[in-house]
Amino acid sequence: MRTLRDSFCALLVLLIAAAPFALSQTSSLHGIDPADLDRKAEPCDDFFQFSNGTWRTNNPIPASMDRWSKRWQAGEVAKDKLRDIVEAASADKNASPGSTEQIIGDYYGACMDESRVNARGMDPVKKWFAKIDAAGDSAALQQVMADMHDILVPVPFDFGGRQDPHKPSWVLADLGAGGLGLPDRDYYLKPEARFKGAREKYVEHVTAMFKLAGWDQKSAAGAAQTIMATETKLAEASLDNVALRDPAATDHNTTFAQLQVLAPHVDWIAYFKHEQIPTDVDLNVDQPRFMQEVDRQMQQAPLADWKVYLKWHLLNSVASSLSAPFVEEDFAFNGKYLSGTTELKPRWKRCVESTDRLFGEALGKKYAEKYFPPEAKARMQEMVRNLLAAMRDDILSRPWMSDDTKEKAMAKIATFNPKIGYPDKWKDYSHVEIRRDAFFEDMIAGRKFVEQDNRATIGKTVDRGRWGMTPPTSNAYYNPLLNEIVFPAGILQPPAFDMNAVDAVNYGAIGVVIGHEISHGFDDEGAQYDYLGRLRNWWTDADLKDFQARAACVVDQFDHYYIEKDIHHTGKLVLGESIGDLAGARIAYLAYHKSLEGKPRPADLDGFTPEQQFFIAWGQFRGDETRPETQRLMVQGDPHPVAKYRVIGPLSNLPEFQKAWSCKADAPMVRPESKRCDVW
Ligand SMILES: [Zn+2]
Repeated sequence: MRTLRDSFCALLVLLIAAAPFALSQTSSLHGIDPADLDRKAEPCDDFFQFSNGTWRTNNPIPASMDRWSKRWQAGEVAKDKLRDIVEAASADKNASPGSTEQIIGDYYGACMDESRVNARGMDPVKKWFAKIDAAGDSAALQQVMADMHDILVPVPFDFGGRQDPHKPSWVLADLGAGGLGLPDRDYYLKPEARFKGAREKYVEHVTAMFKLAGWDQKSAAGAAQTIMATETKLAEASLDNVALRDPAATDHNTTFAQLQVLAPHVDWIAYFKHEQIPTDVDLNVDQPRFMQEVDRQMQQAPLADWKVYLKWHLLNSVASSLSAPFVEEDFAFNGKYLSGTTELKPRWKRCVESTDRLFGEALGKKYAEKYFPPEAKARMQEMVRNLLAAMRDDILSRPWMSDDTKEKAMAKIATFNPKIGYPDKWKDYSHVEIRRDAFFEDMIAGRKFVEQDNRATIGKTVDRGRWGMTPPTSNAYYNPLLNEIVFPAGILQPPAFDMNAVDAVNYGAIGVVIGHEISHGFDDEGAQYDYLGRLRNWWTDADLKDFQARAACVVDQFDHYYIEKDIHHTGKLVLGESIGDLAGARIAYLAYHKSLEGKPRPADLDGFTPEQQFFIAWGQFRGDETRPETQRLMVQGDPHPVAKYRVIGPLSNLPEFQKAWSCKADAPMVRPESKRCDVW
C-alpha cells in the first residue's frame, strides 16, 4: 500500500500522449488561446480571471468531475485512448495466459461485466466476513488483519517498504498509521460545522452500507457508533496533515524488541511471519503514539467491536467493486457529499482507471508504445536540462547564501535524476491469475500483486528504476530520497506540452511544471535532504535561518488566502507546493529568456508580448474551476493550494510579472515590497 505514499510530491497535470515541440520558432506556431481570456477582467487585478475566465464560463464542470480546466478535459479525453487499448486486448481471443493482453483484457472485460457483478451482490465479501467472524481470540483476529493488509486494507496500521532516510540506498520495513474512514484526524476532532456535519453523514453512511450488507437498522446503527468511537480514539493518536510534512515526525528507527515493548498486545512474531519478513529487519515506526493506541484498543476493546471495525473497512475498501447499490452508496458519501460531484463516471471509465491503478505498467507499456514517441523524450530531456541550469544560476546568484552552502546545493543539482515517459524495466504481471468471469477476485489478485511488489523491496538495496506512478498517469513527482524528478508520458500533452505552440507557451506551462518539480528539491521539506537523498542538514546555520525566514513569508501569504468566509489555506500545509510554484514560475521564466539569447526577439502574438504569453500560459494551464466541496477537502488535506491561488500566489510575488503587464505598485496582483516573497 505504499505506492501512493512514495509519491512525495505530486503536481497534478494531465494525461495523454505527445510529440515534440520545436524550440525554433516559426510563424505557423500558435500562442495562447485568446478566446479563453476574460477581457473584462484586468490582468493586474485578478490574473486568474483574466487568463482563463471565459473558458471557465463556457465550460462548466461536468457532473462527474470535482474540478475542470483544459488540462483536466484533456486528461479525460485521453482515457479514450486507454479504452481503445483495453478493448482491443479484451477482444483478443488468442492472448496467452499471463500475457499483457490477457491480464488487462480480461481484467477490463470482467470489470465491464456489470450484470454478473450485480448478480453476485455482496457474495464475494461473505467469505471475508466469515473469516472475521471465525476469529475466536485476539491472535486469530490479528491474522485476519494481516490478511487484510495483503489486500491493501490498512486496518488499523499498514506495513510496507520505505527508503531509509539516513541511508537512502536501503529499504526499511515501515509501520504506518491508517485505519480512518474520514479523510483525516481533524474530521473526528474539530468542532467546526463542516467537520461535525461530516461526522454525522459518515455515521449515516456506515449504517447504510451495513444495511445493504443485510443487517437490520438497529445493528447497523450500533455498528456505526462503534466505528465512530474506535476511529475517534485512533484519530486522537494520529498526527495531523501539517505535522506529517515534517520528515522528522515519522522518522523512528525501532528494533523488533522495541516494537514488542511499544505494542505488546500485538503478536509481532506471528505478524512478521505472516508477512514473511524476518524480525531482524531494519524497521521504522512512523507514529509510535498511534501504535500505542492500537495496542491499547487491542487490549481493551471487545473482540466484537474489532470485528465490526474490520468488516466496515473491508466493505468500505471494496465497495466500488461490488454491485450497484454498494457503488452508489459509496459514491453518495465519498463523491457527492465529500467532493461535490453529482454523477458517477461511466463504467468503462471507472474500469479503465481501475486497470491503471492495479496493472498500470501493463496498460502503460501498451500506452507508451503507441503514444509516446522518442522525440518527446528527447525534447523533455532538453527542457529539464535548461531548467536545471536556470535553477543552478538562480542559486548561485543569491547574495544571502554562503559559498559553502552554495557548493552543497550545486552537488545536489548535479545528482538530480530525471525520469521521463516510462520505466526502462517493466513490472512482470505474468503470474497474476485474472479471469473474465470473476471481477472481485481479479481485483483482489491485483491488490495482492501491488502489495507483494512493494513488500519484496524490504531489506534490500533500493531499485532506482522503480516508478511511483504509471506512464499514463496525469501527474509528476519529486522524490527527495532519490533526488529524482519523474514525468510520466501522460504529462507530455497539450495544454502542458504542445509541439504546435511557441516557446513562450511551452515554457509557461510544462516549463513551470518542470521548474516546480526541481524546486521541490529546495523547498522547506526537500531542502532537508542532501545530494545523496539523506535526511541530513547541509546548510550553514545563518543560511538556513535566512531560508526559513523567506519560507515564512510564503506561509503568511497563503494563510491569508480564503476559499470562503472563515475557511482559508494553512500556509504550513501548502508551503512546499507554493515554494515549488513560485520558484517554478521564476526559473522557467529565466530559462525562457536564456533560450532567446542570440536569437531575434519573438513576435507579439494576439496582441501579447512573449512575456505576457508566458504568464497567460500558466494561467490557462492552471485555470481550474473547483467545486466548493472539493476546495474544502483540499484546504484541509491537500498540500497543493486551489488553482486560483496557484496562479495569483506565485505571480503576485514576481517583479517579472509586474513588469510584463505594467502593473502599478498598488495593484492587487502586485504584493507590496514589504510582503513580497522571494525564496528561489
Ligand atoms: Zn509539487
